Amino acid sequence: MIMRHHLKCYGCEGLFTVRLGTEPTKGTRFYIPCPLCGYPNKGLMSGMELEDHRLDLECELANGPDPEISGAPVITVNPFVPSRYDADSLASEAVSVGMFPTMTVLQLLGDEVYEAFQTERHEAIEAGRSAWPEVRKLFRFYLLGNDQMFTRIANEKFGLEWEPTTAHERTTVAYQALGIVTTTITGTTGTSAEGVIRRFGMKHTAAMKRDDSHLMAFRSRGQLTAATERDLFTEIDRFVDQHESWELGLLSRFVGPEAKSELEELVLYRDEFATVRDLYQQGFELACKCLWPLVAAQNTLKRSSPDDFGDAHPDSVPEKLRPTNLKKFDGLANAYKLAYVTQVPGWESFADLLNNRRRNTIGHAMAHHDLRTGRVTSDKDPDGMTYLEFLGETLGVFEALSTLAQVLRAVRVASSPDFNVPYDWKPGMTPPADAQTAPRRRG
Ligand SMILES: [Zn+2]
Repeated sequence: MIMRHHLKCYGCEGLFTVRLGTEPTKGTRFYIPCPLCGYPNKGLMSGMELEDHRLDLECELANGPDPEISGAPVITVNPFVPSRYDADSLASEAVSVGMFPTMTVLQLLGDEVYEAFQTERHEAIEAGRSAWPEVRKLFRFYLLGNDQMFTRIANEKFGLEWEPTTAHERTTVAYQALGIVTTTITGTTGTSAEGVIRRFGMKHTAAMKRDDSHLMAFRSRGQLTAATERDLFTEIDRFVDQHESWELGLLSRFVGPEAKSELEELVLYRDEFATVRDLYQQGFELACKCLWPLVAAQNTLKRSSPDDFGDAHPDSVPEKLRPTNLKKFDGLANAYKLAYVTQVPGWESFADLLNNRRRNTIGHAMAHHDLRTGRVTSDKDPDGMTYLEFLGETLGVFEALSTLAQVLRAVRVASSPDFNVPYDWKPGMTPPADAQTAPRRRG
């Protein structure tokens, strides 16, 4: 809904009217650029219901009867929908597309795509709000090792009709629940997760059969993956908790190449750069720490050892840095790790999801959100990107994290304490359950 407010600009003290788009929100930081002087008047709105809606503004409300400020400029600001800057500021209230931000997006996408976008968007928001709290609870009990509570939540909240009695069964249940919600939040348009995970599953299964060293590598990294599992869950939880601030990144996946330049002109009046950048950066770093199982599967499949990189080095990786085992791979810079992964057919999408060039712009110490232009820039990259593109990059990192969580699941299952490796494991013995199929009880 749109609320009208008459405001006195905090900067120039001039009077103007804002038509402020309002939606249920846990808390949204935004700004209203003064149509007279350009000063970004900051604000915070919150409230999931209309009754408890709260608006805090840096500038004063200019009370008084309407006629007093008739003729004052009007601006439409909707922190939930991108719109054209200056579309109607300084203009009369004549109907123009820019006045109705939703119309702007509708025009940009066309009816059909707009509807698909709205459907995915609302499913994503709903998944984060209503399904995630239960998944969070389930996963926390999984991490705590409270098997009793884990089973209770799985039965009561997820309709699981059997009792997961082994660690690898609980791992599978926990990650399936996680995956359902993260997949919904990522949406289906323009995603690559399914293909990446399927390909990894095939390679991983084949690698287990190919050489025992593959399983041994996963087992010997048990401690490492336990810590990574906790960090990965914590990070995904932070992303979902802050979903409102970056969910509009989804829009970039619905805009065709011909409309890209129009998207460039849209401004989103949100003022949450610091929050979202923090998610983006931490998520990016963590995702790069979780790439090794992909590389391990590829190495074993091709050369019978997860540590054997053979001659398959990307050109971009300097000769002296080329890893000779997984441990050395762990120590590589993110760009080089990504180069190893993205050279494998089917995994190229990580180059888009974790775009290192954009990471350098966003993560640069001088990077900032220019409220006038609506762009994220740094002194190294003065052109930068639009805030919407930045949110699109953040969605990319979230997709990478949720995809890699499912990759990590295979590692956790394969290295489960249920299988009496490494103590009684000997080369030549059959590796335990196939990590990608539903686990069966042993014996
Ligand atoms: Zn002003």
